[in-house]
Amino acid sequence: MRGPGGEGVNEPLLEVRGLEVAYGTIPAVKGVDLEVRPGEIVAVIGANGAGKTTTLAAISGLLAPRAGTVRFEGRSLAGRRADEIVRAGVVQVPEGRAILTRLTVAENLALGAYTRRDRDGAARDLEATLARFPVLRQRARQLAGTLSGGEQQMLAIGRALMARPKLLLLDEPSTGLAPLVVAEIFELVSRIRAEGTAVLLVEQNARQALRIADRAYVLETGRVVMAGPAAELAESPEVRRAYLGL
Ligand code: ATP
Repeated sequence: MRGPGGEGVNEPLLEVRGLEVAYGTIPAVKGVDLEVRPGEIVAVIGANGAGKTTTLAAISGLLAPRAGTVRFEGRSLAGRRADEIVRAGVVQVPEGRAILTRLTVAENLALGAYTRRDRDGAARDLEATLARFPVLRQRARQLAGTLSGGEQQMLAIGRALMARPKLLLLDEPSTGLAPLVVAEIFELVSRIRAEGTAVLLVEQNARQALRIADRAYVLETGRVVMAGPAAELAESPEVRRAYLGL
């Protein structure tokens, strides 16, 4: 099947094959294969140190892989700078949010558009982002450091959306947030997907991640040990025991 631009609509948006990443001589990711198709939420779950963050860093160009390929819309991302990868449509919200606490909320959002060349479009998107997150509009002139954890996570996601991603990479968006706020963030992620942006979601909160994801991968010590539809993984005895505490 071909899409309107001639691209195969069933072809993966992101295709990672045989990815290996090491810190010096210490391997952290040892041959990971994963895919995200257009319109999907794909979760990567796994314990601390499983290699989830390292995998994201290799996709977004922050770390150079030792082996393997990362392709986005059929093109290799090898050797491309992180800002070129953002321009190609892959935008990461890092673990810990990386909000600039001494800039205002509006300034943080504006930074998300730094790779864009269409200034008018970026101004319109700032307006649209403030409309979408009323809490950020109320606090637009406040220093970002005064926001609550949940508001900072919304700001980090809003900032990423300002770059108009085709694929959003989310690293542990639920960390440190109260359950009600976590539910709000996951609801937001579902809405982002419904609007057409694919999502690769790294989470230790396996329960919530499997609830909203279409498919998921389980990472253990740098390797994919299970993969499949999220609903099936949530029913698997191994996942229930190791990641859902059941
Ligand atoms: P977390 O949930 O803690 O972020 P993770 O699944 O994202 O865990 P990674 O952060 O990718 O795991 O870490 C994978 C492995 O690489 C771990 O063994 C970790 O100790 C190691 N590692 C991560 N960052 C570095 C670094 N900067 N230098 C050396 N080793 C690192």
